[in-house]
Amino acid sequence: MAETLDLARQLALHLDSLRAAGVLFVPRGQALALPPPVAPAPVEEATDPLAARRHALEVLRGEVAACDKCSELFSTRLQPVFGTGPLDAEVMFVGAAPGPDEDARGEPFVGKGGQLLGRMFAACGFTREQVHLLTVIKCKPPKNRAPTNTECANCRDFFRRQFEAVKPKFVVALGTVASRLLAGKKGTVADLRGAVLSYRDVPLVCTHHPDDIEQDASGTLKREAWDDLKLMLGALGRPVPGAK
Ligand code: SF4
Repeated sequence: MAETLDLARQLALHLDSLRAAGVLFVPRGQALALPPPVAPAPVEEATDPLAARRHALEVLRGEVAACDKCSELFSTRLQPVFGTGPLDAEVMFVGAAPGPDEDARGEPFVGKGGQLLGRMFAACGFTREQVHLLTVIKCKPPKNRAPTNTECANCRDFFRRQFEAVKPKFVVALGTVASRLLAGKKGTVADLRGAVLSYRDVPLVCTHHPDDIEQDASGTLKREAWDDLKLMLGALGRPVPGAK
């Protein structure tokens, strides 16, 4: 039916163009050469190359909002914390789980550690608004405990789909939980940091969580994190402060 209507519309347009060109009648039986059918352009795709990825993220956001796979987290969270940042962010920073501040605001990394993270971004030449921030699980565990393996497994598909929608050029895992999950290796962040690894074929650096850096009075974790971020800058081809 739709095809018949299309053909009728094309025929009408063609007759209009003949009329405009001064042709007042067409002899019976003369074949009308219709222009070849034009496939409808995917208007949204043509004007917004990120449309499909944006749509995928919005679908995902809805699924996360309704998710109750981890019954304890579902019953104690104020809201899931989906993540922030532009869809075409160059770098993605990944923590373990939202804490109480993040649960209250619905945004990742908004506590004291988040402020330190903001200063670390600035030292790298990024603003918070230029990077993608998220956590491997979306709901706050009670009493600020680490997420369990089951909770991480429950949320793994959400994380993977979000990662694929953003497709960053580089990913930074913050702290032991995120580092283990993304690197796919055992060990602590101290074992995994200091090298460029990979997650789903995207270069990955593991480093200390800003909350741990905040609590380290010796300054060692801060220096090590800075070394890790310089690895990232070098791998991205960005200027590395202090490099000769
Ligand atoms: S942590 Fe993830 S899987 Fe668990 S309830 Fe929250 S959104 Fe669902």
